[in-house]
Amino acid sequence: MKRIYIITILLCITTILSAQNIPSPKQFLGYELGERFTPCYRIDNYFNTVAQASPSTVKTFKYGGTNEGRDLVVAFISSAQNIQNLENIRQNNLRLAGMLKDNTPANVNMPAIVWLSYNVHGNEPSSAEAAMKVLYALADPSNTQTKQWLQNAVVIIDPIQNPDGRDRYINWYNNAVGKNFNADPQSREHDEPWPYGRTNHYNFDLNRDWAWQTQKESQQRVKLYNQWLPQIHVDLHEQGYNAPYYFAPAAQPFHEVVTQWQRDFQVTVGKNNAKYFDANGWLYFTKQIFDLFYPSYGDTYPTYNGAIGMTYEQGGIGAGLGIKTKSGDTLTLTDRLMHHYTASLSTIEVASNNAKQLVTEYKKYFDNNINGIGLENTTYVLTSSDQNKIEAVRKLLDNNSISYGITNANLSGYNYFDNKTETFKNEGYQIAVNTLQPKGRLVKVLFEKESKLVDSATYDITAWSIPYVYGVNAWATKDKISLSAYTMPAAIMPVQSNYGVLIPYTSINASKVLAALLLQGIRVRYSADDFTYNGKAFNKGTLIILKGNNQPNWLNAVNTACSSYNVQPYAVQTGFMDAGADFGSSDVHFIKAPRVALLTGKSVSYIASGEVWSYFDNELNYPISQLMAEDMDNINLSGYDILIMPDGGYDVFDDKANAAKLEDFIQGGGKLIATESGAEQLAGFNWSGLKLIEDTAQSSDSIIQKNYGASERDFLTSFIPGAIYKVQLDNTHPIAYGYSNFYYTLKQDARVYASIKGGWNVGIFPSNAYVAGFVGSKLKSKLKQGVAIGENRYGRGSIIFFNDDVLFRRFWENGKMLFANAVFLAGN
Ligand SMILES: [Zn+2]
Repeated sequence: MKRIYIITILLCITTILSAQNIPSPKQFLGYELGERFTPCYRIDNYFNTVAQASPSTVKTFKYGGTNEGRDLVVAFISSAQNIQNLENIRQNNLRLAGMLKDNTPANVNMPAIVWLSYNVHGNEPSSAEAAMKVLYALADPSNTQTKQWLQNAVVIIDPIQNPDGRDRYINWYNNAVGKNFNADPQSREHDEPWPYGRTNHYNFDLNRDWAWQTQKESQQRVKLYNQWLPQIHVDLHEQGYNAPYYFAPAAQPFHEVVTQWQRDFQVTVGKNNAKYFDANGWLYFTKQIFDLFYPSYGDTYPTYNGAIGMTYEQGGIGAGLGIKTKSGDTLTLTDRLMHHYTASLSTIEVASNNAKQLVTEYKKYFDNNINGIGLENTTYVLTSSDQNKIEAVRKLLDNNSISYGITNANLSGYNYFDNKTETFKNEGYQIAVNTLQPKGRLVKVLFEKESKLVDSATYDITAWSIPYVYGVNAWATKDKISLSAYTMPAAIMPVQSNYGVLIPYTSINASKVLAALLLQGIRVRYSADDFTYNGKAFNKGTLIILKGNNQPNWLNAVNTACSSYNVQPYAVQTGFMDAGADFGSSDVHFIKAPRVALLTGKSVSYIASGEVWSYFDNELNYPISQLMAEDMDNINLSGYDILIMPDGGYDVFDDKANAAKLEDFIQGGGKLIATESGAEQLAGFNWSGLKLIEDTAQSSDSIIQKNYGASERDFLTSFIPGAIYKVQLDNTHPIAYGYSNFYYTLKQDARVYASIKGGWNVGIFPSNAYVAGFVGSKLKSKLKQGVAIGENRYGRGSIIFFNDDVLFRRFWENGKMLFANAVFLAGN
């Protein structure tokens, strides 16, 4: 710590000497912005250099790192007085929001906080170039206009939200471009290869991850965000290169919790931006495409946290340094960054000019949440017999700075699982969340059964209610109830045994324990039957680890794994059970540590294969080989026990030899796990036993005059952007161990499968399966009954399929155990 102080003092001395000598981007980089792409480390260096040259008005700090070891950096820019007062401004801002309670009253005469985030999608690179220009304009002492704005505004700049994706794109681009750029759209430099720079290291879209924070970058960024809670947040993107610029106001649907003030100020910002774009003759559009509904975007998340949250979009994906657009113009990187620069400065200007009102309305937003004005008092009480399922919800709440507790009230409310109003039943563990708190609107958005959709033309999922996503029962009540402190889990007690240990198999945590033990070569069995030992009931799937045949450190390994994943093991002293299968029974199966491979590459969805990769790497902590599907003819499958085939096109299996190789793999004892359109591909092979239920409702031949102007509405009748359906489970099958007899799935398409002859229909859609979210009217009637999850044995192997994405964005908590079961338990 002391060393840091000394370094800081030294830095201060050197920077005072060089103050006022602030390099422009060109002086620092050696080229004009827009002439080439700037790698992440040089952008970071520029930010740090400007901060060192102007320590009284610019501060930078590293708030984290990426999967590939790049820095996440943020800068604070304001007047010297505000920068000196920065920590007070931050604390006061949290007092305004009701997020910091102490004896100091909140002061509304404070600068507005404007947070500008650039380059969340790595292959939308013009925004980070613009960020350097924005920084210089704000820091340059000769720029009197920005100096005036910064009296009333603190600007926070995150120049690169996704450094791994950005460098992936520009490193590729630099080796594809010649001495001069080629504007021909068909030239290779405009055809970025798989897996593209849009996403982070694990192919996750960070602009879908703000609320869930499954990814390292979002976890660190949103933590910092919640320490500041700005009045304005802008997320600067790029879209297809033929599109004109987009800025606020946003498109419908708006979530109903978006306040009138938030709607109005979006218009104020948009008009100010328009003033500059009009003066330059630049085209733009507003109020279309980019809606405010799904809560995990860089515009909606800030909106549900009291800010004016906005997306700006420049045309430019794939444009490189320059490209010919369909209007015949050449769009250059310089054009693109100038538009982002102009919109950024315009936003700072309008925030500064309206600082007083912004801060006052901001306080009102949070006061209204706390007092339940314009927001109905609702308490959501969630309960489960498994503590880890409640703990997963608790972590989500902590990550979003939402307060919670538990209740002993004898309450009655709407039950999420049976859709009835009834008395709350504590299933063992609980967590309760109330809307009467600073984050009240966010609580409503995340926990209500279904968000009101005023317009169905949204391009993301329409249902994400936490009780269904986490698979925990919930009651919503309007009763005024007080909450007491949440009970944190007690430490896991290590056990002693000279015979063996049992591990209840009731949450994904138990699957993680299993993965850890298999990796260490510990021999693990599971019971396919319920049994009772010492008066305690153990369900199917319970893991059994015996001293016999195991290595000497077996007990230590079990205790350590159980402690790290919060699972309480039970010691057993005999293999003779009170009831049910003894350990020597044929119902007790040995679990082989599987060698797992994942198909990936350009015929596979990069998002879906990234989910599986990240699930193994960061959740199960279990090795997985990534095979390039297009190299199938050269791949030797004999080294694997499991092949995973996520969503994808798989034209590689149109080749007869490749298809035969897949068939041989299963016949020879391999296990194939296929999801979404990966499973649909298999339905094309007779041997798979999978059959899609086709749409039999063909349209009649009568001539219908369609309304051309209403074509979008017409499209919506066959549209399902993502809705929640209930799947009835056969929990005597290993894929469904640890579940009750149902599961809530995210349905994103109309696919359903016919009953599998000779196999197991593990999950089916019952006739009343629909739960929440938008489903087009034509689809709703079609989506009736069918198979959602199944297993078919073929030869010595087996085919397991999931109709839907059970690992969706890795926040669909309740699907994770299904996937682990398919990997470790099924087919043994
Ligand atoms: Zn984008």
